[in-house]
Amino acid sequence: MRPEVLYPLFRPVISLKGVGPRIGTLIEKRAGPSLVHLLWHLPVGIIDRRYAPKIAEAAAGSVATITVRIDQHRKPANKRLPYKVICSDDTGTLTLVFFHAHQDYLQKTLPEGETRVVSGQLEVFGQEVQMSHPDHIGTLAEIETLKAVEPVYPLTTGLTQKTLGKAISEALKAVPEPAEWADTTFVEKNHWPTWRTAILAAHGPENLSDLEPDSANRNRLAYDELFSNQVALAVIRKHMRRSKGQAVIGTGALQKRVLKTLPFSLTKAQETATDEVSQDMASDTRMLRLLQGDVGSGKTLVAVMAMLSAVEAGMQTVLMAPTEILARQHHATIAPLAKSAGVQVAMLTGRERGKGRAGVLDALANGSAGIAVGTHALFQDDVIYKNLALAVIDEQHRFGVHQRLSLAAKGQAVDTLVMTATPIPRTLMLTAYGDMDVSRLMEKPPGRQAVDTRVLPLDRLDQVVVAVGRALENGEKVYWVCPLVEESEKLDVAAAEDRFTGLAERYGPRVGLVHGRMKGAEKDKAMDAFLNGPVDVLVATTVIEVGVDVPAATVMVIEHAERFGLAQLHQLRGRIGRGERASTCLLLYAGSLTEMARARLSIMRETDDGFRIAEEDLKLRGAGELLGTRQSGLPEFRLADLHHHADLLAAARDDAALLLERDPDLTSERGQAVRTLLYLFERDAAVRNLRSG
Ligand code: ADP
Ligand code: MG
Repeated sequence: MRPEVLYPLFRPVISLKGVGPRIGTLIEKRAGPSLVHLLWHLPVGIIDRRYAPKIAEAAAGSVATITVRIDQHRKPANKRLPYKVICSDDTGTLTLVFFHAHQDYLQKTLPEGETRVVSGQLEVFGQEVQMSHPDHIGTLAEIETLKAVEPVYPLTTGLTQKTLGKAISEALKAVPEPAEWADTTFVEKNHWPTWRTAILAAHGPENLSDLEPDSANRNRLAYDELFSNQVALAVIRKHMRRSKGQAVIGTGALQKRVLKTLPFSLTKAQETATDEVSQDMASDTRMLRLLQGDVGSGKTLVAVMAMLSAVEAGMQTVLMAPTEILARQHHATIAPLAKSAGVQVAMLTGRERGKGRAGVLDALANGSAGIAVGTHALFQDDVIYKNLALAVIDEQHRFGVHQRLSLAAKGQAVDTLVMTATPIPRTLMLTAYGDMDVSRLMEKPPGRQAVDTRVLPLDRLDQVVVAVGRALENGEKVYWVCPLVEESEKLDVAAAEDRFTGLAERYGPRVGLVHGRMKGAEKDKAMDAFLNGPVDVLVATTVIEVGVDVPAATVMVIEHAERFGLAQLHQLRGRIGRGERASTCLLLYAGSLTEMARARLSIMRETDDGFRIAEEDLKLRGAGELLGTRQSGLPEFRLADLHHHADLLAAARDDAALLLERDPDLTSERGQAVRTLLYLFERDAAVRNLRSG
């Protein structure tokens, strides 16, 4: 239950004075639905109205607050001309200019013969000093409030600075003073104010330096947000650990049998990772381990070893992939290996229906299938496992913490191994996974060659088509990735179909096509024709992005590469350079590049080190997007910027760990305050994992 002290902050924004349904919808879109979300909407600039010159001294272009006598209203001769109000002080004349004026209103607020204070941007035209549409008009009594520094907020179409600013200052009136949740020594050491003081000050900047991410107020707020994130992750993890695990101890027999059938042996990195996983599984606490390795580093095989050891121990295991294509690819890889070990593999995606699906469910319920491969369909409510011991999740960051938990509910004490091909930078690891254990595959299997990457303008397409022809003559296979059209999958597909037609005219039946609008079976057929069959050029949309493995593919053409993100380009390029032969990646761009796009393409040309690319990506894009949280609505962090607050993140993690060690259920006085913090940042799910208190 949310603590009472926070009730006022969780009122809807439309409950604010001056916010009706229309403005409410806009604010909701920009900041969020409740008052608390307005607090997180921090200013990005200031308007300093303290400059209060005489008219004759006023600098053109500046924002000024000037005290004037209202001399005369001048109605325009026709409606297209502005309404003018002539004012003066003892040094000169100021003309106030209004387009589409409401005369009644102006006569009321600027009565002739009286003194008023106006604040706004000054312009000088010839001899005339003008202020058009002053931001503020007030009486002399109001001068001190007008001569303030105003925060400037990020807006959205239809929402003005004035409206949003008012709503936020109303919301600030509801800010309570909750008990201190941070470690008081730490707070003192940093000379931080309380949370309430910090939030009020962050919305009342006096100088540009108050907007800096490392100002005391902003640091404090960022810390609170990071601390809530770290406590929440630690609580969930503790909860998973507390639900006792089971010792899963394989005999190694099946692993040995499978390794014998492979034409290569495990790399050192794979061996180490396999050992780490086995040790976790053998202990009776629950495993929560991340297997991190660049594309092509051989994660799948490590997962297979872990899965086999679960089967050796007489238990079941699943491998879940984010897309159907990838699930089928995993199935195609794993099935023959499992067969050589005499283990039955079931396949479950959204496509298995009716009798087929019933058969799979039976095999999982009675335990005859030791391994299941599939998509999230593996965890639908009616899927029951006889004794699930290990879940492997591929490409984790597409699923999120929530799915991870629903999955854990399927088995009494399921060990979880998460594979990620996106080499998440350390800073992000902490926020996304807390202190999850990590195995890294830094070394790639032997014999890999760096991909030769080139950046070309799209108008050299003809040459590219010829180069593709040469590759085909050499018996190589080519991926041709078509532009991403964000607004419409339909347009995506149309572009791919056009390119397919063009290439097919030239290279005939050796050209294939795969895209996201195809039915599952069609996609499989197209992929299979590329892997094993007659197709040597595969025109594709980004459906091939993850995981798909065609070792003979050595050329990748990416059209409109400027439209892709770095991580995506890296993933795509990872589809080639998997065999013994040298590979080439051609990044085609159209038009003049934005600075960001140019930076992305040159990073791609410079390196194929996934870690470095991820770090650069973080710099270019910011953390929210990298974790995919931005697509799901608001970014994960509103106050913290991992670029600037990485050291705070480490402190937050340590503090969270220490706190939970002393007070695992957050029942102490400080523990209660931290519960309030969790609610403040809407980490209610974490609180539900605590025992009562
Ligand atoms: P990842 O999943 O990390 O992207 P994969 O597991 O798909 O990488 O492996 C990429 C390719 O490398 C596969 O074709 C796989 O068979 C091969 N491979 C894996 N381990 C080794 C190894 N130790 N030696 C040689 N090739 C390997
Ligand atoms: Mg893979």
